[in-house]
Parts: sequence; structure tokens; C-alpha cells
Amino acid sequence: MKVTVDRDMCIGAGNCVLTAPAVFDQDQEEAIVVLLDETPPPSELTAVREAVDRCPAAVIRLET
Ligand code: SF4
Repeated sequence: MKVTVDRDMCIGAGNCVLTAPAVFDQDQEEAIVVLLDETPPPSELTAVREAVDRCPAAVIRLET
């Protein structure tokens, strides 16, 4: 799978970090999303899908 995020549109809500902490982090100063793993293993698929659904700004894209 391949994950991308639009950091310019992220509002720093942090849902992605709570949902998939192995894939997403947040910038310490602005709380903007930081993508830790662009190509996570299949074991992360459910968590990443949930992060996509829970992102209030809809800025996470997932290609499988
Ligand atoms: S859930 Fe969406 S808006 Fe919130 S930090 Fe993650 S990418 Fe940004």
C-alpha cells in the first residue's frame, strides 16, 4: 500500500496519530501530520483505512 498526505491542508486534529501511530506522527510545533511510513506493511491496512475515514480534513490518501 502507498500512503500520501497533504500537509498544507492538515488541520492538526491528530486522529491519524491516535489511529495508526506507526504510520503517522505530528509536528511538535504546529501539530501538522508527519508521515512516518509511506509504504506501511499489510498489517497496518486496517488502521490506515480507519485513519483515512477519521481525518476531518480528508487529506490522507491510500492506494492499495
Ligand atoms: S487526522 Fe487529518 S487533519 Fe488530523 S492530523 Fe491527521 S492528517 Fe491532519
